[in-house]
Amino acid sequence: MSELNSFNEALLQFLDSSPTPFHAVETMVTTLISAGFEALDERDEWQLKAGGRYFVVRNGSSLVAFCCGASDLLPRGWRMVGAHTDSPNLKVKPTPELHRHGYFQVGVEVYGGALLNPWFDRDLALAGRVNYENTQGELRSCLLNIARPVGIIPSLAIHLDREANNSHSVNPQKDLPVVLLQSGEKEDFRTLLASELTEHGVSDVAAVLDYELSFYDSQKAAMVGWNGDFIASARLDNLLSCFIGVQALLNSDSDSHTVLVCNDHEEVGSQSAVGAQGPMLESVLRRIAGDEVSLQRAMANSMMISADNAHGIHPNFSDRHDANHGPLLNAGPVIKNNVNQRYATNSDTSSLFRRLCADQSVAVQSFVVRSDMACGSTVGPLTAAALGVKTLDVGVPTFAMHSIRELAGSQDAFNLNKVLSAFYGLAALGVAN
Ligand SMILES: [Zn+2]
Repeated sequence: MSELNSFNEALLQFLDSSPTPFHAVETMVTTLISAGFEALDERDEWQLKAGGRYFVVRNGSSLVAFCCGASDLLPRGWRMVGAHTDSPNLKVKPTPELHRHGYFQVGVEVYGGALLNPWFDRDLALAGRVNYENTQGELRSCLLNIARPVGIIPSLAIHLDREANNSHSVNPQKDLPVVLLQSGEKEDFRTLLASELTEHGVSDVAAVLDYELSFYDSQKAAMVGWNGDFIASARLDNLLSCFIGVQALLNSDSDSHTVLVCNDHEEVGSQSAVGAQGPMLESVLRRIAGDEVSLQRAMANSMMISADNAHGIHPNFSDRHDANHGPLLNAGPVIKNNVNQRYATNSDTSSLFRRLCADQSVAVQSFVVRSDMACGSTVGPLTAAALGVKTLDVGVPTFAMHSIRELAGSQDAFNLNKVLSAFYGLAALGVAN
């Protein structure tokens, strides 16, 4: 198998094993541990060694992994890559039970800016974290992934909604409750969960207390297109970048001080204990540096690349892009620019990235939103503002961002990995402070 194909195989596997941020972090941790990374607990004192490779997890849904290089940290600084673990989805409400016409349904909340129409008529699986009291009366939590299609949101037939193709808006309260089963009984969701946990080998459940569970599309990630030009999957935004970040980190050499941060809660604004507006990354860096002045000196020599997918120009909707800034799939990573700081890119960081791409023989593209449209954002500006670190926003171009199934080019993740691996090995930034 070619290097490109085996990279993409591993990417598809990562996407399928990571239906929620909890599972994404668990999958990344497994990879890191098998590559010799050591788990750190924020409650402990840390004894970091030159050449050591470590990771920290918060809430099971955000991760900071780092390598302590053999070189001096202060003159060299950190090379950091940031991404996010969460994606828009439908989450089960706390008291979700709806019993109507003999159907048992569960009510859902919409997490993030989901494109809702594609959620209809999909075979939905369910995954996340379940908190329970065990048979000894202790609080416990575990991850659960019910990978079989346990639910569905059927569309209304066109005969009952003749305007469906002209104007179909979705009322999330009314239209999205998920059908789970047909029963004469008044089913209780927590009781169903408890028996599902037993099926999954969790044998000490006395009562399910609470949960954070998301529906997801049970269809697996796949290479698609006549010639396999594309990758179709749920959660490409932004598990694709998490996967690249881990692969690049594993490639980093023993001299470099490298950091990968994958935060939860980007899709809902990042303001949380584990989001990019929270203190997690900064507190880890402070502990690595040892004291405030060292932190500031190292930071001044550091750089962050925030990797999050970009919008490729869609052939059916090309007027939604500035004609000079319409990234193509399979034509290289996209530098994201916005003068109003919705992206943190500046000409120092983008020119450095262009040179890294040229060194790796990887084509590069740029994106700015049309001047008459509002611009999205990501973790880049938040990290830049919190740390005062030079930052660049880049991403792989995709279609259908925030749909239940998104589309990327089959070469772009592989190429961005080459460039980020080279970035991790960069001894000096070569730009003024
Ligand atoms: Zn994103």
